[in-house]
Amino acid sequence: MKKIIILGASGSIGTQTVDICLKYPDEIELVGASVGSNVSYLKDLLSKVPLKYACTKEKCEELKILYPNTTFFYGDEGLIRMTEVEEYNLLVNALVGFSGFKPTLSAIVNHKDIALANKETLVVAGDLIKQALKENDVTLYPIDSEHSAIFQCLLGSDKRDVKRLIITGSGGSFRDLKRDELKNVSLEDALKHPVWNMGNKITIDSATMMNKGFEIIEAHYLFDIPYDEIDVVLHSESIIHSFVEFKDGSLMAQMSNPDMHLPIQYAILYPRHMESYSYNQLDLGKLGSLHFKEMDYERYPLVKIAKEVGKFGGNLGAVLNAANDKAVELFLDGKISFLDIEKSVIDTIGHAKYIKHPTLDEIMQSHKWAERYVRKMWNQ
Ligand code: NDP
Ligand code: MG
Repeated sequence: MKKIIILGASGSIGTQTVDICLKYPDEIELVGASVGSNVSYLKDLLSKVPLKYACTKEKCEELKILYPNTTFFYGDEGLIRMTEVEEYNLLVNALVGFSGFKPTLSAIVNHKDIALANKETLVVAGDLIKQALKENDVTLYPIDSEHSAIFQCLLGSDKRDVKRLIITGSGGSFRDLKRDELKNVSLEDALKHPVWNMGNKITIDSATMMNKGFEIIEAHYLFDIPYDEIDVVLHSESIIHSFVEFKDGSLMAQMSNPDMHLPIQYAILYPRHMESYSYNQLDLGKLGSLHFKEMDYERYPLVKIAKEVGKFGGNLGAVLNAANDKAVELFLDGKISFLDIEKSVIDTIGHAKYIKHPTLDEIMQSHKWAERYVRKMWNQ
């Protein structure tokens, strides 16, 4: 029986995880859930599932009175407290941005397996996380569709025979625009992803392709593959979720209609491939053809920068993530333009003080420094 706690239950990944829990009550027990500000979602969830633990961003007396058998936690400290309870064995981390990092680390230290959507965790401190996984004998299952694909393609093979990981990318909201057409794009258009319906932050990360850059770093840490052996290919339909190329020339791919229920469910119910929540057969005859295009690193400079940052390692991942988190927040608030996101990230990385083997404290300081740097850059 999987006994799970979902952090970020009210978000895009979180709500799809709840769908799966409700579909498989004999396999999955939902022990706890956190939301940020969406208290009405939690209220609705509590009316269906008797959660042992729940967490909201702000204190909520009404829920405490309505559900006296549930223990409530609050704020950032509450997210950590959720990860410290006894009665679960898998944390689904569906928080967005830096907020996901400390809860992942805390769950690992408490010997809980992780199903990870929050890729920012690995960008911020992949080395510390890997070390903690090893020390505590904890398994981390990827939820990100590309990494779920690679995970599946690698099963039963010998890592020494891997030549390349090839991560597919749809190209995001502005994939049909040239660089000089990006100057005046609107927030509204940036939020219209051509294939996936996701939270705002990752939708913007997909438009800048920072998301693909993060996924390169995520793949490096998940599968222990050197950066020079991780490539990206553009694939507009998002049907092939990634490839593994082996030294004998064999190219393995995992395909499905684009629907996050599948990788989320696989991460929770691994190694089972049970009928997915929204089973949707891939009709190859109707599909007809699939399209691929070489990755253009000049068009999407953040992918190249992320790869370089990954190679340097140290505290630069934390700087990259914080600069991007803050810049995306300013863009979503209408304070800076779309191309200013790139500018913020590039300028912040260029001015960061490099620390090769940062402590947790130094990671936190680098994060705060980069946030401050971006705020100052735009007088915010
Ligand atoms: P959403 O924005 O849809 O959801 C984020 C969740 O985190 C919400 O429940 C939100 O609560 C909560 N949250 C946000 N900030 C805080 C905070 N400071 N404290 C406590 N809770 C907070 O994000 P997504 O579901 O799209 O993405 C989640 C993660 O999964 C990201 O790391 C993303 O990169 C990754 N991912 C997402 C995919 C997708 O299809 N969406 C695909 C692959 C990866 P509330 O809304 O109640 O305020
Ligand atoms: Mg992805």
